[in-house]
Amino acid sequence: MARLGSWIEPFPEGIYVRPADAWIDPSQPKAKALVTHGHADHARGGHTEVWATPETLAIMGVRYGDQNGHPVAYGEQFRIGEVDVSFVPAGHVLGSAQIVLEHAGERVVVSGDYKRRADPTCAPFEPVPCDIFITEATFGLPVFRHPDTGSEIDRLLHRLHADPSRCVLVGAYALGKAQRVITELRRRGHEQPIYYHGAVERLCNLYEELGVSLGEMRHTAGAKKEEMAGHIVIAPPSALNDRWSRRLPDPVTAMASGWMRIRQRARQSNIELPLIISDHADWDELTCTIRELAPREVWITHGREEALKHWCMIHQIKARELNLVGYEDEDE
Ligand SMILES: [Zn+2]
Ligand SMILES: [Zn+2]
Repeated sequence: MARLGSWIEPFPEGIYVRPADAWIDPSQPKAKALVTHGHADHARGGHTEVWATPETLAIMGVRYGDQNGHPVAYGEQFRIGEVDVSFVPAGHVLGSAQIVLEHAGERVVVSGDYKRRADPTCAPFEPVPCDIFITEATFGLPVFRHPDTGSEIDRLLHRLHADPSRCVLVGAYALGKAQRVITELRRRGHEQPIYYHGAVERLCNLYEELGVSLGEMRHTAGAKKEEMAGHIVIAPPSALNDRWSRRLPDPVTAMASGWMRIRQRARQSNIELPLIISDHADWDELTCTIRELAPREVWITHGREEALKHWCMIHQIKARELNLVGYEDEDE
């Protein structure tokens, strides 16, 4: 009998599904690509044909121009070559999907990036029991336990209200994190306008078009310094220590990322207000998900593979590192 999952071949540039002659999240241009979500390390331009959710295709359209895309709705079943495929929500960012592959009586789930906690900007992760679970492990160490998101947002609001002469500048990735922080603020009753850096504008507009309302947003470019005092400003992390921030009224620099658990990391980037808000599963989410899906094997795409592999071994689950390249370590 063939080895479990022998029809799935990991290469450094992505996962190749042989009986479909298709790749998952390839980092190089391929004839057929199945794309889990819109982050740049998973969704690249230049593929001949792309299968992805309508939201992911729209995000890729904003970044790379129109795709020769096959929109796939969550739960829709289709076939590529000899493989039955469906996309189910991954709870990571808008449009993010796990890819479920069935062939030769085996079911393989490729998680892409995922998280289990609630996110008002996207559909929640849907557990699909499987033979092989191909998972990320960005925060695959027991030290990574993300706190409740609401309490982090409360810390942000508390800091904002403490000094109305200053603004709070929040570093957040332009795709997903920025919109999540904004909607979480709205949920906690923050109705004031939120200012944004030009780099997050297009994706905020796209989220709005796709039905995620962000409330009143204003561009920093057209705003006077005094006008932004007492307000929240959202910018990509790269802009935090940039000349651009000089236009802001004495900003308190914050950053929303799972990496903010590591104090040293916050200090190195001059972050005064570290907010532990992550779009990736933490240690408990990773291990609880594996328990829940009860796969026969776990394959780990990227992140801190060692600890998760060890955990699997202790729990009598065969585990394997795939060593894919080009997947970033950022909390995107
Ligand atoms: Zn991602
Ligand atoms: Zn990723």
